[in-house]
Amino acid sequence: PQPDPEAGAAVKAADRAHVFHSWSAQELIDPLAVAGAEGSYFWDYDGRRYLDFTSGLVYTNIGYQHPKVVAAIQEQAARMTTFAPAFAVEARSEAARLIAERTPGDLDKIFFTNGGADAVEHALRMARLHTGRPKVLSAYRSYHGGTQQAVNVTGDPRRWASDSATAGVVHFWAPFLYRSRFYAETEEQECARALEHLETTIAFEGPSTIAAIILETIPGTAGVMPPPPGYLAGVRALCDKYGIVLVLDEVMAGFGRTGTWFAADLYDVVPDLMTFAKGVNSGYVPLGGVAISAEIAATFATRPYPGGLTYSGHPLACAAAVATINVMEEEGLVGNAASLGASVVGPGLRELAERHPSVGEVRGTGMFWAVELVRDRETREPLVPYNASGEANAPMAAFAAAAKKAGLWPFVNMNRTHVVPPLNTGEAELKEGLAALDAALSVADEHVR
Ligand code: PLP
Repeated sequence: PQPDPEAGAAVKAADRAHVFHSWSAQELIDPLAVAGAEGSYFWDYDGRRYLDFTSGLVYTNIGYQHPKVVAAIQEQAARMTTFAPAFAVEARSEAARLIAERTPGDLDKIFFTNGGADAVEHALRMARLHTGRPKVLSAYRSYHGGTQQAVNVTGDPRRWASDSATAGVVHFWAPFLYRSRFYAETEEQECARALEHLETTIAFEGPSTIAAIILETIPGTAGVMPPPPGYLAGVRALCDKYGIVLVLDEVMAGFGRTGTWFAADLYDVVPDLMTFAKGVNSGYVPLGGVAISAEIAATFATRPYPGGLTYSGHPLACAAAVATINVMEEEGLVGNAASLGASVVGPGLRELAERHPSVGEVRGTGMFWAVELVRDRETREPLVPYNASGEANAPMAAFAAAAKKAGLWPFVNMNRTHVVPPLNTGEAELKEGLAALDAALSVADEHVR
């Protein structure tokens, strides 16, 4: 593509004058003006191209501008761009069928939302109405969305500003051996102690007051932390014991990211409700939803479900989901994520960890990886403090700038970089990205004590 700095300057000027950006101090940000994107790359108006190791916000699982999905959206737009949610519409019916055929166990009814946060809102409402109980338990190390209830159950600091309305939300510690809250030294200890802590929390909160436990199957933004073997099965057993609804949030982990259709498949656990969004149609048109078990669906068989959205099951978004799921099947993208994750990304990151003292731990599966950056490998002191900004965050800012200079757009959260490229990123591209990470980690190394 031809560089066009003038056009880029106009895009940037209108953005700076009128666009109010998410999670940002509006005058302290400097958004890059993006001219185009294809596959695993995007480029700016000055002709600089970046390999995208973020999949946007971990959602373009099939990469940018997949021609078959773009064509399906165009066809649906020509045929029936939109239609109200109370009607049976082909694209909606077909998307629900394709999703239900892939979700675990008996999660066979699909309630469509506009994205992940409202999927979480509805899942928790369903759980409260189903059980008649008020409270929800969630993990500190979590992100569940930006709307009121979804941000309340979130554990990360984005919750703090909206905490006045947390009534009914109790946080607990889920397992994470590298930064254990339980003095554990092995995965077995971490698992057993985290389950004991959760059962004690349930006992002290009162089992009969708890409607749901919500967990990301593999927590994403909080650090890609695959739970130890047995943990999710243990949570499932506690939910069964106390009549609590298990909600697994697969907004980020779902639709192939982990090298399986859903992360729950890795652990053989079937939740009562499962939230999804992002990868369901690679975010080409906003779409999310809740997959509902037979038992919870039965609660609303003759009693109306008190909730809905104008755009529930929007035909354009659903047509994009149908095309995306079909493309993922035809091109074997779930298997691709599993095999290239195991043969290229995992080994490549472990090799970087050996050479760079700033790398404390590498963990992940499929195309879902985190690199934990530290000042000191022994003490595991993070490269920047929890929730750092400004000067305190300078080492991570320098790392990110170095990655961009090397042509890689990195995902950065606190003291971590996540490697979360599209599932169809090729081996050569992955190696190109790992080489850029190598260069950026040398900059992070300068901050090691
Ligand atoms: N749940 C999880 C696990 C997420 O990662 C996200 C977004 O990153 C959400 C929910 C919220 O989704 P959305 O931004 O589409 O509302």
